[in-house]
Amino acid sequence: MLSKINALRKILENKNLDGILIYKPENRRYFSGFTGTTGFIIVTKHEAKFITDFRYVSQAKEECKGYDIIEIGRSEPLTNIINELNIENMGVEDEFFTYRHFLELNSNLPNLSIIALEGELTKIRSIKSEEELNYIAKAASLADEAFKYIVDFIKPGACEKDIALELEVYMRKKGATGTSFNFIVASGLRSALPHGVASDKLIEDGEFVTLDYGCIYEGYCSDMTRTVIVGKANEKQKEIYSIVLKAQETALKAVRPGITGKELDEIARDIITNEGYGEYFGHGLGHGVGLEIHELPHINTKGDEPLKPGMVITIEPGIYIPNFGGVRIEDLVVVKENGYHVLSNTSKELMEI
Ligand code: ZN
Ligand code: ZN
Repeated sequence: MLSKINALRKILENKNLDGILIYKPENRRYFSGFTGTTGFIIVTKHEAKFITDFRYVSQAKEECKGYDIIEIGRSEPLTNIINELNIENMGVEDEFFTYRHFLELNSNLPNLSIIALEGELTKIRSIKSEEELNYIAKAASLADEAFKYIVDFIKPGACEKDIALELEVYMRKKGATGTSFNFIVASGLRSALPHGVASDKLIEDGEFVTLDYGCIYEGYCSDMTRTVIVGKANEKQKEIYSIVLKAQETALKAVRPGITGKELDEIARDIITNEGYGEYFGHGLGHGVGLEIHELPHINTKGDEPLKPGMVITIEPGIYIPNFGGVRIEDLVVVKENGYHVLSNTSKELMEI
């Protein structure tokens, strides 16, 4: 963990801080190796402390290499530790740091300046190591396998929720430790809901079914979407599917270091807009994936940072037409030195089942 502690110390230097406090689970795991559910990291120029309660002390000693493990009571404030470390300017995870923690620190240490880290930690996490890439690839391959398995369950009369459950059980039996989010199984008119979480609806003949799911392997997420047709596709369904596929494949082929998320978004959006469906593509093209299902880099109109090798992103354009249905196609992709590598290997041909 020494290289990760050093990365934190670089932030201290750049932002002129005396200490950094981390407790968002994904950051905590990344920077310390700790897989438990309660614990704080405090890193200063010379100290690296992992603070947890009685339940996790032995685990922290085993997992958090390079850190001094400090035990505190479950509701004991961090005040004394921060005081002993002489921290005056402390960086915090502003998107996670709660008002309760603010009050606790502010009332006990009125001179402590609490400073927003503004995504510095997630920026570091956006570039994956070989080991992380292997975990994500494994999570993606479990999703691919699950797709082959689930095809037989997608038929008239099948319930969306049952399909979601089958997907989950299958991936967990094969080694996934959880799902990366609440699966989307959206059939018929519901497929026009970009986030139509599996419901009690029964699938009918002639409907689109959008499946958006992924699993967690060694803490890392996968994410993939496929849209299929139950029975035979009509002309309009074929048209929409082929536009989304063209947008998806064109944006995918443009993935390389240096391009921005915004530019990728534009490539896909232009294709859909030129075909007359621009107003029905109401979300960003994709997102970064790692310990969190949605993380940096931005792959949408906010994505101004050039992509770098080792980033893992999704490319997932869609067209959603109210009272008709919708199509989304999503692949998980690694940015490589010379372009990209697709981790989702399930076919994107329109599947009529
Ligand atoms: Zn997805
Ligand atoms: Zn996604």
